[in-house]
Amino acid sequence: MTYDRYQHRSDQGRFPKGHEARAHYAHTVGEDGFYLLEQLAAPTTPAHLRELASVKTLTVIWAQQYERLTEPLPTDGAAGRSAVRWKELKELPRAATQLESPYDLDARYRTKQALHWLGYLVHYTETCDRHKPALITHVHTTPATVHDSQCTALIQDALVQRQLPPREHIVDAGYIDAELLVHSRREHAITLVGPPRPKAGWQTKVPGAYSHDQFFVDWERQQVRCPGGKWSLPWRERRDPSRDPWFAAHFRTQDCAACPARHLCTRSPHQARFLKLLPRAQHEALQTARATQATAAGQKRYARRAGIEGTISQSVRAFGARRSRYRGLPKTHLQHVLTAVAINVRRIIAWFDKVPKATTRTSHFAALAA
Ligand code: SF4
Repeated sequence: MTYDRYQHRSDQGRFPKGHEARAHYAHTVGEDGFYLLEQLAAPTTPAHLRELASVKTLTVIWAQQYERLTEPLPTDGAAGRSAVRWKELKELPRAATQLESPYDLDARYRTKQALHWLGYLVHYTETCDRHKPALITHVHTTPATVHDSQCTALIQDALVQRQLPPREHIVDAGYIDAELLVHSRREHAITLVGPPRPKAGWQTKVPGAYSHDQFFVDWERQQVRCPGGKWSLPWRERRDPSRDPWFAAHFRTQDCAACPARHLCTRSPHQARFLKLLPRAQHEALQTARATQATAAGQKRYARRAGIEGTISQSVRAFGARRSRYRGLPKTHLQHVLTAVAINVRRIIAWFDKVPKATTRTSHFAALAA
């Protein structure tokens, strides 16, 4: 029976149809796995077998997916009882730490809009000098679960280390936040350019409502003045272990209760308006970045980033970057680096051959409008 179950790779077989049959199958597989691990742990088993990488992987995956019970329980509606519990989705570890495939322990699962994939993410950095070829200066590969904002500082560190720091680092919204704006400037004298996260809160969407930027912040007094002219109580610092400190500025309940413009300010039936403030350097950097991005000059400066979309497209269409040819992060990174080298070589040859850079294609219909 056991041979029948495992003679084929899992991707070559078919899973049973229906929830009950599948749950039963999952329990059986769980029991088989635990049985195997128990045999490996027995004193009569040669020790080197326990040290095999595949055994360690099996141990981790089984701990993530199953629980060994002391008392057998009825299985999910299927016949029989099982001393193994197949964990529910909510009990699984975070995507960043969960092993998704025994064949590639670095690969992680990610969903981004309509796209789902198992593997990695690559971040290219390239020059964007209008009169020179756009050359890739850095390639950063991460497991798919790593957020873009976690890469910005690492990319800048690497560029500085190679003595290639840009004056301006133009990035999309995922790579920018208040802390990174300050960090780039302070650590490397790099101006991080991009659209910061839009302001939060319903007040930003309702015309006439009092959004965050209509409040005056007095950093010396540590108070905020609202558009109605009332001052908040002195703010209090809040600390969160995972991030920088922030400040909570509360207005007085009696001020807000008597305010004729309350409906433009807060939707809380009883509580007064409350503002969350970042440390001063971050707050001001964010305000400046938002203001700059809203100007025509800011938009023009940001438009230079568009070239990287062509590079990503080229790496996907011409070099198959959507598929990793190798297993593991180091080799996948090597694939990405070689792709970047190939793209650079093609661009340098085109430069010497005086081949003009491709421009964004326009449909015949859109050309008529121009
Ligand atoms: S509701 Fe409170 S914070 Fe808002 S404008 Fe009125 S007094 Fe100021």
